[in-house]
Amino acid sequence: MEQVTYEGLTFQPYISKKEIAARVDELGKEIVRDCAGKMPLFVCVLNGAFPFASDLFRAVESIDAEITFIRLQSYQGTESTGAVKEVLGLHENIEGRTVIVVEDIVDTGNTIFRLVNDLKKHKPADVKVATLLFKPDALVRPVQPDYVGFSIPTKFIIGYGLDLNGKARNLNDIYILKEE
Ligand code: IMP
Ligand code: MG
Repeated sequence: MEQVTYEGLTFQPYISKKEIAARVDELGKEIVRDCAGKMPLFVCVLNGAFPFASDLFRAVESIDAEITFIRLQSYQGTESTGAVKEVLGLHENIEGRTVIVVEDIVDTGNTIFRLVNDLKKHKPADVKVATLLFKPDALVRPVQPDYVGFSIPTKFIIGYGLDLNGKARNLNDIYILKEE
Protein backbone atom coordinates (compact mmCIF):
# COMPACT_ATOMS: atom_id res chain seq x y z
CA MET A 1 0.00 0.00 0.00
CA GLU A 2 1.33 3.36 -1.07
CA GLN A 3 0.11 6.84 -0.33
CA VAL A 4 -2.50 8.33 -2.68
CA THR A 5 -3.36 11.89 -3.72
CA TYR A 6 -6.79 13.43 -4.42
CA GLU A 7 -7.44 17.13 -5.06
CA GLY A 8 -3.90 17.95 -3.93
CA LEU A 9 -4.34 16.17 -0.58
CA THR A 10 -2.11 13.24 0.38
CA PHE A 11 -3.48 10.22 2.21
CA GLN A 12 -1.51 7.37 3.77
CA PRO A 13 -2.51 3.72 4.24
CA TYR A 14 -4.50 3.24 7.43
CA ILE A 15 -6.64 0.05 7.49
CA SER A 16 -5.91 -2.73 5.01
CA LYS A 17 -8.42 -4.67 2.93
CA LYS A 18 -7.48 -7.77 4.93
CA GLU A 19 -8.10 -6.10 8.30
CA ILE A 20 -11.44 -4.76 7.05
CA ALA A 21 -12.53 -8.21 5.84
CA ALA A 22 -11.61 -9.86 9.14
CA ARG A 23 -13.47 -7.25 11.17
CA VAL A 24 -16.58 -7.36 8.95
CA ASP A 25 -16.69 -11.12 9.44
CA GLU A 26 -16.64 -10.64 13.22
CA LEU A 27 -19.45 -8.08 13.05
CA GLY A 28 -21.44 -10.52 10.91
CA LYS A 29 -21.09 -13.17 13.61
CA GLU A 30 -22.33 -10.73 16.27
CA ILE A 31 -25.37 -9.89 14.15
CA VAL A 32 -26.08 -13.57 13.49
CA ARG A 33 -25.94 -14.20 17.23
CA ASP A 34 -28.23 -11.23 18.08
CA CYS A 35 -30.70 -11.39 15.19
CA ALA A 36 -31.25 -15.06 14.33
CA GLY A 37 -34.97 -15.67 13.74
CA LYS A 38 -35.76 -11.92 13.61
CA MET A 39 -35.44 -11.49 9.84
CA PRO A 40 -33.55 -8.18 10.20
CA LEU A 41 -33.90 -5.53 7.50
CA PHE A 42 -30.53 -4.00 6.67
CA VAL A 43 -30.86 -0.35 5.63
CA CYS A 44 -27.76 0.66 3.73
CA VAL A 45 -27.07 4.39 3.76
CA LEU A 46 -25.87 5.33 0.28
CA ASN A 47 -23.49 6.18 -1.14
CA GLY A 48 -20.68 5.54 1.32
CA ALA A 49 -21.90 2.37 3.02
CA PHE A 50 -22.42 0.26 -0.08
CA PRO A 51 -19.15 -1.77 0.04
CA PHE A 52 -19.51 -2.34 3.78
CA ALA A 53 -23.20 -3.27 3.47
CA SER A 54 -22.41 -5.67 0.67
CA ASP A 55 -19.74 -7.46 2.71
CA LEU A 56 -21.65 -7.33 6.00
CA PHE A 57 -24.87 -8.64 4.45
CA ARG A 58 -23.04 -11.61 2.98
CA ALA A 59 -21.36 -12.21 6.36
CA VAL A 60 -24.81 -13.10 7.78
CA GLU A 61 -25.66 -15.72 5.18
CA SER A 62 -26.60 -18.24 7.87
CA ILE A 63 -29.72 -16.26 8.88
CA ASP A 64 -32.70 -14.89 6.94
CA ALA A 65 -32.26 -11.18 6.33
CA GLU A 66 -33.31 -8.49 3.84
CA ILE A 67 -31.62 -5.36 2.57
CA THR A 68 -32.77 -1.99 1.24
CA PHE A 69 -31.09 1.30 0.39
CA ILE A 70 -31.60 4.94 1.27
CA ARG A 71 -29.59 8.03 0.47
CA LEU A 72 -28.62 10.95 2.71
CA GLN A 73 -25.94 13.58 2.51
CA SER A 74 -24.25 15.85 5.07
CA TYR A 75 -20.74 16.47 3.78
CA GLN A 76 -19.13 19.05 1.51
CA GLY A 77 -15.38 18.51 1.09
CA THR A 78 -13.64 17.36 4.28
CA GLU A 79 -15.90 19.01 6.88
CA SER A 80 -19.42 18.17 8.04
CA THR A 81 -21.96 20.83 7.14
CA GLY A 82 -24.16 19.63 10.01
CA ALA A 83 -27.22 19.88 7.77
CA VAL A 84 -28.59 16.43 7.05
CA LYS A 85 -30.82 15.99 4.00
CA GLU A 86 -32.81 12.93 3.14
CA VAL A 87 -32.58 12.49 -0.61
CA LEU A 88 -34.01 9.04 -1.19
CA GLY A 89 -36.61 7.60 1.16
CA LEU A 90 -37.47 4.24 2.60
CA HIS A 91 -40.37 2.41 0.95
CA GLU A 92 -40.50 -0.78 3.04
CA ASN A 93 -42.96 -1.19 5.91
CA ILE A 94 -40.72 -1.50 8.99
CA GLU A 95 -43.44 -1.74 11.64
CA GLY A 96 -42.53 -4.48 14.13
CA ARG A 97 -39.25 -5.25 12.37
CA THR A 98 -35.65 -5.37 13.52
CA VAL A 99 -33.86 -2.73 11.46
CA ILE A 100 -30.09 -2.58 11.14
CA VAL A 101 -28.91 0.75 9.77
CA VAL A 102 -25.61 0.25 7.95
CA GLU A 103 -23.35 3.30 7.83
CA ASP A 104 -19.80 3.77 6.60
CA ILE A 105 -18.88 6.15 9.39
CA VAL A 106 -20.38 7.95 12.38
CA ASP A 107 -18.63 11.30 12.81
CA THR A 108 -20.68 14.07 14.50
CA GLY A 109 -23.57 11.61 14.77
CA ASN A 110 -25.98 14.09 13.12
CA THR A 111 -26.81 11.76 10.24
CA ILE A 112 -27.48 8.67 12.30
CA PHE A 113 -29.34 10.58 15.03
CA ARG A 114 -31.75 12.06 12.50
CA LEU A 115 -32.15 8.80 10.62
CA VAL A 116 -32.78 6.63 13.70
CA ASN A 117 -35.37 9.14 14.95
CA ASP A 118 -37.09 9.13 11.55
CA LEU A 119 -37.13 5.32 11.45
CA LYS A 120 -38.54 5.06 14.98
CA LYS A 121 -41.62 7.02 13.88
CA HIS A 122 -42.58 3.98 11.79
CA LYS A 123 -42.71 1.74 14.91
CA PRO A 124 -39.97 -0.83 14.24
CA ALA A 125 -39.41 -3.49 16.93
CA ASP A 126 -35.79 -2.36 17.20
CA VAL A 127 -33.33 -0.10 15.39
CA LYS A 128 -29.67 -1.09 15.57
CA VAL A 129 -26.75 0.78 14.03
CA ALA A 130 -23.81 -0.95 12.36
CA THR A 131 -20.99 1.35 11.32
CA LEU A 132 -17.65 0.36 9.90
CA LEU A 133 -15.97 3.41 11.43
CA PHE A 134 -16.70 5.54 14.46
CA LYS A 135 -15.08 8.84 15.52
CA PRO A 136 -16.15 8.96 19.22
CA ASP A 137 -14.39 12.28 19.91
CA ALA A 138 -16.36 14.05 17.14
CA LEU A 139 -19.82 13.09 18.46
CA VAL A 140 -22.23 15.95 19.15
CA ARG A 141 -25.32 13.72 19.49
CA PRO A 142 -26.25 11.09 22.08
CA VAL A 143 -25.76 8.05 19.85
CA GLN A 144 -23.99 4.76 20.56
CA PRO A 145 -23.66 2.45 17.54
CA ASP A 146 -24.40 -1.21 18.31
CA TYR A 147 -21.83 -2.68 15.93
CA VAL A 148 -18.57 -0.78 15.34
CA GLY A 149 -15.82 -1.96 13.02
CA PHE A 150 -13.10 0.45 14.09
CA SER A 151 -13.05 3.43 16.47
CA ILE A 152 -10.72 6.05 15.03
CA PRO A 153 -9.43 9.54 15.90
CA THR A 154 -11.12 12.65 14.47
CA LYS A 155 -9.25 12.62 11.16
CA PHE A 156 -10.49 12.56 7.57
CA ILE A 157 -10.30 9.17 5.84
CA ILE A 158 -11.14 7.78 2.41
CA GLY A 159 -11.54 4.43 0.66
CA TYR A 160 -13.83 1.38 0.89
CA GLY A 161 -16.84 3.58 0.12
CA LEU A 162 -15.64 6.74 1.87
CA ASP A 163 -15.07 9.62 -0.50
CA LEU A 164 -13.53 13.02 -0.99
CA ASN A 165 -16.08 14.87 -3.13
CA GLY A 166 -17.15 11.64 -4.80
CA LYS A 167 -13.67 10.26 -5.41
CA ALA A 168 -11.70 7.43 -3.78
CA ARG A 169 -14.71 5.23 -2.95
CA ASN A 170 -13.21 2.44 -5.06
CA LEU A 171 -10.01 2.13 -3.03
CA ASN A 172 -9.91 -1.34 -1.46
CA ASP A 173 -8.06 -0.13 1.63
CA ILE A 174 -8.78 2.81 3.93
CA TYR A 175 -6.44 5.82 3.89
CA ILE A 176 -6.02 8.71 6.32
CA LEU A 177 -5.29 12.35 5.51
CA LYS A 178 -1.61 13.07 6.02
CA GLU A 179 -0.91 16.02 8.34
CA GLU A 180 1.45 18.49 6.68
P1 IMP B 1 -22.04 12.68 10.62
O1 IMP B 1 -23.46 13.08 10.32
O2 IMP B 1 -21.19 13.86 11.00
O3 IMP B 1 -21.93 11.57 11.64
O4 IMP B 1 -21.37 12.21 9.30
C1 IMP B 1 -21.71 11.07 8.69
C2 IMP B 1 -21.38 11.10 7.22
O5 IMP B 1 -20.33 12.01 6.91
C3 IMP B 1 -20.86 9.75 6.83
O6 IMP B 1 -21.90 8.90 6.44
C4 IMP B 1 -19.91 10.08 5.70
O7 IMP B 1 -20.62 10.11 4.48
C5 IMP B 1 -19.41 11.45 6.01
N1 IMP B 1 -18.06 11.41 6.67
C6 IMP B 1 -17.78 11.58 7.98
N2 IMP B 1 -16.47 11.47 8.23
C7 IMP B 1 -15.90 11.19 7.03
C8 IMP B 1 -14.54 10.93 6.64
O8 IMP B 1 -13.57 10.92 7.43
N3 IMP B 1 -14.35 10.68 5.31
C9 IMP B 1 -15.37 10.67 4.40
N4 IMP B 1 -16.64 10.90 4.73
C10 IMP B 1 -16.90 11.16 6.04
MG1 MG C 1 -22.40 8.11 4.63
